[in-house]
Amino acid sequence: MSVLVFAENWEGRFKKSTFEAISYAGEIARQMGTSATAVVIGNASDEDMKALGKYGASKVLFLKNDKLNTLEPGVYTSILAQAAKSCEAKVVIISYTYTGKAIAPRIAVRLKGGLVSGAIALPTGLNPFTVRKKCFSGKGLTDVVVNAEVKVIAITPNSYKLNTGTGEAALEALAFTLNDGDLKVVSKEIKKSSGKVALTEAEIVVSAGRGMKGPENWGMIEQLAEALGAATACSKPVADMGWRPHHEHVGQTGITIGPNLYIAIGISGAIQHLAGVSSSKVIVVINSDAEAPFFKAADYGIVGDAFQIVPQLVEAVKRLKAAHN
Ligand SMILES: Cc1cc2nc3c(=O)[nH]c(=O)nc-3n(C[C@H](O)[C@H](O)[C@H](O)COP(=O)(O)OP(=O)(O)OC[C@H]3O[C@@H](n4cnc5c(N)ncnc54)[C@H](O)[C@@H]3O)c2cc1C
Repeated sequence: MSVLVFAENWEGRFKKSTFEAISYAGEIARQMGTSATAVVIGNASDEDMKALGKYGASKVLFLKNDKLNTLEPGVYTSILAQAAKSCEAKVVIISYTYTGKAIAPRIAVRLKGGLVSGAIALPTGLNPFTVRKKCFSGKGLTDVVVNAEVKVIAITPNSYKLNTGTGEAALEALAFTLNDGDLKVVSKEIKKSSGKVALTEAEIVVSAGRGMKGPENWGMIEQLAEALGAATACSKPVADMGWRPHHEHVGQTGITIGPNLYIAIGISGAIQHLAGVSSSKVIVVINSDAEAPFFKAADYGIVGDAFQIVPQLVEAVKRLKAAHN
């Protein structure tokens, strides 16, 4: 019996959310007195796979296949379900990314397991197996008891710390036959997001909303993001109106993020927006309306016109950086 964790990769590279999922799986395995086995699908290097041992994976089951470098939910589910059965996994951990959202429910069904999507912490108890997640668009917390024999936990990125040690994972090829016709979905073209820092990985996010009046005013938002080494994000209407690309949209119907610093500029702070950003460690709100709901969720707030404040912030950050170089 072991804890199984899906080690998601992007063109063979592992990102922080994968290391977090493995750290999380490793700690649950430790508490259960067992080990964590990671599954890698696609073409990651042996060196990178062995290095997953640092985060708590004692073994990596891998399947190298060019056709599986991009997500095919049905096939990924079959591979993971087979791996889970082979190591008699009672707990399966998946990062709650776009890929994780596509495959976690499928795996739970396939293994007749119980699913907790969007977990935010280690189980508060193993017997009964109880995991905390957010509810009501992030307004509340709920402790979910999973009674099924197999527990499938999708852990929200940025909600669990990295455990870094010195271990090296043992590698083992996974025997899985990919038949013609198994691939029901084939990615024909992949367009990479233009942002310099990936939104889901970013430590700092500069986000803006309808208060910016139009897409022509985003230059100052990008300048602030660049000065801070941050990713850019936006509210839903901004993406819907085509002012910004949809992959920047955060919130209930967009991406969920939890950066160390979230700067919200000209965003009212509707509950659906907060649902995607309320896990941020520090929230700074810039809004001309002192009554904007976002101020209630803010750690720091500036009441004022973004068109005056943001350029001053950009200059201040540049001055600070210059002074420290
Ligand atoms: C089912 C459903 C799902 C949804 N999902 C999402 C979601 O995932 N993400 C999301 O963001 N929204 C979502 N929404 C929409 C959400 O309810 C809000 O309508 C939306 O978040 C508002 O966007 P906004 O704050 O950019 O715009 P507005 O509500 O128009 O707010 C603009 C803000 O800018 C301020 N402002 C104006 N001028 C300035 C200035 N010069 N300087 C500084 N501040 C200024 C205003 O005071 C105001 O607070 C969803 C809605 C529904 C019904």
